[in-house]
Amino acid sequence: MILLNQPTLSNGDIIRPTYLEINLSQLTRNYRAIQQAVASAQVMPILKANAYGHGLVAVAEHLVSLGAPYLGVAFLEEGIMLRQAGVQVPILVLGGIIGNQVPTFLKYNLTLTASSVEKLHQINEAARHMGVRARVHLKIDTGMERIGVHYYSAETLLAAAQQCPHCDVEGIYSHFANADAARLHSAEVQLARFNQVLAFYENQGLPPPPLRHMANSGGILQLPASHFDMVRAGILLYGIYPSESVARTVTVWPCLAWKSRVIYFKVVQPEHPVSYGSTWQADHMVRVVTVPVGYGDGYFRRMSGQAQVIIRNRRYPVVGSICMDQMMVNIEWDSAYNNDEVILLGSSGELAITCEELAEWAGTIPYEILTNINTRVPRVYVHDP
Ligand SMILES: *Cc1c(COP(=O)(O)O)cnc(C)c1O
Repeated sequence: MILLNQPTLSNGDIIRPTYLEINLSQLTRNYRAIQQAVASAQVMPILKANAYGHGLVAVAEHLVSLGAPYLGVAFLEEGIMLRQAGVQVPILVLGGIIGNQVPTFLKYNLTLTASSVEKLHQINEAARHMGVRARVHLKIDTGMERIGVHYYSAETLLAAAQQCPHCDVEGIYSHFANADAARLHSAEVQLARFNQVLAFYENQGLPPPPLRHMANSGGILQLPASHFDMVRAGILLYGIYPSESVARTVTVWPCLAWKSRVIYFKVVQPEHPVSYGSTWQADHMVRVVTVPVGYGDGYFRRMSGQAQVIIRNRRYPVVGSICMDQMMVNIEWDSAYNNDEVILLGSSGELAITCEELAEWAGTIPYEILTNINTRVPRVYVHDP
């Protein structure tokens, strides 16, 4: 299956030699491994930022076909794109809201995050005005200091939610700042604060909202007590661990490969520098191939001088500055031909270039590598042979 936002050849094939290959069979295995690990809790796949670069709509449709009961996105627009693509399961928008967005949320039947009493009242009022019911999750800040009512003043929000006749408060949640760390003290403090907030319901003799949730990938892996009724699986679903130090209690594998092709071959004389700024040259004659991908696709320029790629089952260094649309690779005196496959991220036989490696070269984290592969790069969806 090929789905993309780009022109294609008349037979439907992609035109661009640079593309992302997403293995939906592997995504299925990751989803099931997470589901098995969290037992009775539900799994909410997180699809923000174009499904961590994997393609919002295609990934959503696949996960819904596997039975995902709920989807999570960051922004209203992402929720609307899913609705316009025909996705019908509940969708929680995790980010903060601005009052004038509320009618649009309701129009598309998206679940809102109420992160303060004022916002909750805006939601209730808009729902009353439109004659609809709003699905709402309450957001508690237990230590992230991002959005959400502080745990020490959460009772006002929980009590206010009892007085909103136009809202269905179906969830309450919090978010970890350090669930992927080796030391879990801070995450455990956050978890204790969330439990303390939830005690409100018992103290008042009220049922809690049916969906209590807190765990991101780090929480899924390391804090079973944070699984509650649902977990929010982000990067782990895509087969990447949230940090180097996290306990790998669930086995997942990456489902994305980034590939291109050799588009030019040349022999470069000694002391003839390559690319902008002339930052690299060899002291002997070398063969250099050009690959049609660059920082304009999200292959960070910061990686110049460090990045490697795989061609014909060998790793070779990217040399000189990475350009916007092209980069050069030194293959020394080996052979490579126009149209040979170049693997920027992914595996080939015994060799692999991981998202963690790219992150290291770029001085960032795997999340940022994935979410920066921009929409100019076509996505191609495949299954196991
Ligand atoms: C991004 C996000 C997640 C998923 O985080 P991962 O570390 O990718 O699992 C979960 N919850 C919220 C609120 C988020 O913003």
